[in-house]
Amino acid sequence: MNKFDSLSDWQNFRSRLKGSLGFVPTMGALHDGHLSLIKQSLSDNKYTLASIYINPTQFNDTNDLKNYPQQMDKDIKILQEIGCDFVLTPTYEQIYPDNFNYKVSEQNLSKLFCGRSRPGHFDGVLTIVLKLLNIVQPTKVYFGKKDFQQYLLVKNMVEAFFIPTQVIGCENIRETDGLAMSSRNFKLCPEKRKTASLFYKILKDSKNPEEAIAQLKKENFKVDYVEDCWGRRLGAVYLDNVRLIDNIKLGELI
Ligand code: AMP
Repeated sequence: MNKFDSLSDWQNFRSRLKGSLGFVPTMGALHDGHLSLIKQSLSDNKYTLASIYINPTQFNDTNDLKNYPQQMDKDIKILQEIGCDFVLTPTYEQIYPDNFNYKVSEQNLSKLFCGRSRPGHFDGVLTIVLKLLNIVQPTKVYFGKKDFQQYLLVKNMVEAFFIPTQVIGCENIRETDGLAMSSRNFKLCPEKRKTASLFYKILKDSKNPEEAIAQLKKENFKVDYVEDCWGRRLGAVYLDNVRLIDNIKLGELI
């Protein structure tokens, strides 16, 4: 696997690369959810590039950024083992020569759900994705439907700006007890990790969002939102200040 720390090295290399390129942007602390995207890209494309970059502009809470899990050496090993061709690990200075003076801002969907309680979050997400798509120039880019609102916003942005990349949505990968895999799960103590599995169960088993909210509160989750939209039930909660998000297709409800 080739590791690129320098954007210009990658861009030189990219200009000579022939054949389809799949791209999986990540913030590291890789788990099987990320790996499912990489596997999909490996099977769809001649080459696959993963990026590892903790994007500060999408964190509206400095503590959340400070505490975000980091394990670069382990991640590189995981990517090597799975057969990823290239990894890009840029710095803030390389990505933001403008110091985030220019940003992409969506006016509707980005203000709902996660956008309500995380002002500016999706400006940061869309800006980094646009920058990375311009740098990587992939044939296809892979996003997890675990972050369903993010997936829709990226898909719509790519259409809005005529970016010649296909956005592929991949299914939400779960732990055996149902909890959606997330780098943030590593932050939960064993007791809260056990409680966390109730999030998925309650989303799935409640008749409506109001019932889900009441059940979650009973189990001591701090609820940000549970709402039905796009044929899905979407939710975000906190457990000990760790933010968890999830969504299920309404057809999966019992
Ligand atoms: P992150 O490193 O959290 O920014 O995630 C990088 C990509 O992996 C995003 O497209 C996420 O939606 C995706 N992802 C994260 N967790 C999962 C999961 N449990 N299942 C599927 N995709 C995921």
